[in-house]
Amino acid sequence: MTEASQLAFSLSKRAEDLSGGVVGDAVPMLQIASELGIEVMLQTYRDRRGKSNEQHPESHRVGDAALIYSQVPKIKLFRSSVHSEEYLLSNFDEEYLTYRERFSIAHEIAHWLCYVDHGIEPSRVGSKDYWKNEKLMDDFAGQLIVPSKVVQKRLRSLGSDVVPNIHHIFGWAISSRVSVNVFAKQFVRVFDGIGFLLIFLGNGKHRGVTSKIIEVVYSTKSENIDIPNSYSKIMNDRIFNIVSDTDVGKNIKLCGVNFREKLGGDYFLSWRKQEDYRQYKTRYLDNITGVFWTSWAAVKRIGNSSKESNTLLDRMQTLE
Ligand SMILES: [Zn+2]
Repeated sequence: MTEASQLAFSLSKRAEDLSGGVVGDAVPMLQIASELGIEVMLQTYRDRRGKSNEQHPESHRVGDAALIYSQVPKIKLFRSSVHSEEYLLSNFDEEYLTYRERFSIAHEIAHWLCYVDHGIEPSRVGSKDYWKNEKLMDDFAGQLIVPSKVVQKRLRSLGSDVVPNIHHIFGWAISSRVSVNVFAKQFVRVFDGIGFLLIFLGNGKHRGVTSKIIEVVYSTKSENIDIPNSYSKIMNDRIFNIVSDTDVGKNIKLCGVNFREKLGGDYFLSWRKQEDYRQYKTRYLDNITGVFWTSWAAVKRIGNSSKESNTLLDRMQTLE
């Protein structure tokens, strides 16, 4: 076992123990932090400049949260507001936190556990191991905030003949008070044969020609299914048209197509329109015509052939 996989294993065990006694759907991050002796502060600031002024020599600060390694460890959350103030949060403040802030607390808890359990301090931004390390912290955060027992409970509630899709993930994410991608990532660890993508449809230049392009902004999948990676581009007019031409109105939030007839396989593509995409940066598309969350699933729940899954996209490409 390498050092990194040992650390991942130890963190994963810690996440399971910490969320073990939780009864509700949403894991209370403030309560877990306080059980670990960590204070959580909310720092509001008036403008963007206020953010970079905040520097602490012993803090790990990335994005919207920081961990301060002091006698009483502190996690600071930064939130833009009309006032600049600092609040000490209590367990009763959980419902005022955003999904993002809850995840940030879990991420900073991971750094703290690395420090107290293993004497590991966070890598410097820009160092060789930085992103590898951050990924481990995010993995822990995901497991803490969406424990596998919550996913299993959801699956049981669904019944054995229903294929889960992106619509379910949206609902479950809200109950767990996490973002769709955080829930989806934990879901695919438990459920085999499914993957989720956040895709942008639009026009972009490919070999000098303006074409229809599907840009994958986020991708997560179980081991046995092959779907496009994050940041990949798909040039497939058939999938593009199916997704964009089907009306996704206010009352019909979810659309789905079974590819059994066309492909002879047991695959199901479902999608749901996402209204807000301002926070995402697109690198390739000049013109965005739609933003969708999609799920790709093998229709059979048990014993789906991984070989077939692996060729799913190839088969779609050959339909052109
Ligand atoms: Zn970090």
